[in-house]
Amino acid sequence: MSKENILTSEHNDVRENFITHIIDEDLASGKHQSIHTRFPPEPNGYLHIGHAKSICLNFGIAEDYNGLCNLRFDDTNPVKEDVEYIDSIKQDVEWLGFKWEGQPHYASDYFDQLYTYAIELIKKGLAYVDELSPEKMREYRGTLTEPGKNSPYRDRSVEENLALFEKMKNGEFAEGTASLRAKIDMASPFMVMRDPVIYRIKFASHHQTGDKWCIYPMYDFTHCISDAIERITHSLCTLEFQDNRRLYDWVLENISIERPLPHQYEFSRLNLEGTLTSKRKLLKLVEDKIVDGWDDPRMPTISGLRRRGYTPASLREFARRIGVTKQDNVVEYSALEACIRDDLNTNAPRAMAVINPVKVVIENFEGEEILSAPNHPNREELGRRELAFTRELYIDEADFREEANKQFKRLVLGKEVRLRNAYVIKAERVEKDTSGKITTIFCSYDPETLGKNPSDGRKVKGVIHWVSATNNKPAEFRIYDRLFTVPNPGAEEDINSVINPNSLTIKQGFVESNLANAQVGQGYQFEREGYYCLDSKDGNADHLVFNLTVSLKESVAF
Ligand code: ATP
Ligand code: MG
Repeated sequence: MSKENILTSEHNDVRENFITHIIDEDLASGKHQSIHTRFPPEPNGYLHIGHAKSICLNFGIAEDYNGLCNLRFDDTNPVKEDVEYIDSIKQDVEWLGFKWEGQPHYASDYFDQLYTYAIELIKKGLAYVDELSPEKMREYRGTLTEPGKNSPYRDRSVEENLALFEKMKNGEFAEGTASLRAKIDMASPFMVMRDPVIYRIKFASHHQTGDKWCIYPMYDFTHCISDAIERITHSLCTLEFQDNRRLYDWVLENISIERPLPHQYEFSRLNLEGTLTSKRKLLKLVEDKIVDGWDDPRMPTISGLRRRGYTPASLREFARRIGVTKQDNVVEYSALEACIRDDLNTNAPRAMAVINPVKVVIENFEGEEILSAPNHPNREELGRRELAFTRELYIDEADFREEANKQFKRLVLGKEVRLRNAYVIKAERVEKDTSGKITTIFCSYDPETLGKNPSDGRKVKGVIHWVSATNNKPAEFRIYDRLFTVPNPGAEEDINSVINPNSLTIKQGFVESNLANAQVGQGYQFEREGYYCLDSKDGNADHLVFNLTVSLKESVAF
């Protein structure tokens, strides 16, 4: 594509922001001819909604500018990483609808090159093997207000450093007894520049490189070099890496790697009200069995949101709406819910489900009548479905009262209500069990009211939903509420003290028979109840399990 086209390309995925402005300038000035970004997750957990923001930014920019985006696993810490995480990350990125350039990359693909660059730094007198203990090293580092002190090992000769680094590589040092450090400035106001460790010893098997290495490069050394090797133009990360940019540039400027060099830009991370966006904290919820795995529908993970019924389009729209800035902020949870609600309101077929069933008997009706109902109130193209109207029906307990004032526009003893997509019925009498609980509501129906008002001008205000009691599918409903009782659970010392005990309520009820064909990944609006989806793990045609995706209307926040 020509440069003009690149410059005029529309911001479809990513709304204009300070990063797109920088890119526009870089293209206009000829600094870059094309754009290459990357998404660099560490495979130490499942991706969460914060990562979705970063994915939509990196892949979205590549799409908007007809550029490329790599998927790169930042796998320098084998102890915490796992192939299960790698697989889940690939699945999540693909599910969001993005395509990475070529094969997924791994920082570990570059371990040989990284090692060579470390040798180059040693030869230039810019790196040394330190034998301070981790405690001493911390002590020597100084504080934000006090400069650090040089390590006694700092002035070793190049030859000595080369020999010692070789010994580190050959496993001749124990873990924690030696490390390779960049020789920068122990008095720098930036802690990251105080002779940062660039290689450490870990006798750990790596999921990609096996037992080949017992020294592993640190993130700051690896990330910039990986970006440069992959010819990344704009390396986008979150604000906590702002200071690290100095080290990013220092490393690249001091090694002989192809120019032009990539540049790092930082944006603010997504914080979402009432949730955690830290893999470490989410892992703890999984380990402590507070949730049922990483993809529990209450988790803010991409896999949890998928199982909950969120669509890729809704998450991409969310990322678009929140935008990209440098200001730290907390996004209200309702902003995320609004995105899925908008999507499902337009796209979800309607269906009826009774979650707290009570039986209705239509005494003046026999047999079964097949009624037809639209799948969507204003999208004819979504077709129609058949509903079985039978003598025995279920309605929701909450839709009936023996006595009520005019505000209660549902079924009341002696009064009428419309059954959605069917007839007007009148409650005649009830039957109760010994505890006083209503077991059956006996009704009559008006056969002249299918799709029209009573001919004598009687006004029937309310409409309630229903399901046949004899032609239906039993279903389990998993009704979710927020997982935490506070807006900022990440700030809590004891997360257990702020878990909402009612974050999951399970109900057994009925859905219309059509839902025997419910598909995973398809959202439904259960009329008057909410948006639901078939659970991908426990739900199937023989055992329908539906997850509440989102309520019909915005619910109260904290
Ligand atoms: P966590 O603290 O959850 O482990 P992380 O930053 O360590 O997050 P990585 O796997 O290193 O996780 O992140 C991959 C990319 O996603 C990085 O570029 C990171 O900056 C970005 N990212 C992580 N969390 C967020 C967030 N909350 N908002 C936006 N981007 C994020
Ligand atoms: Mg990280």
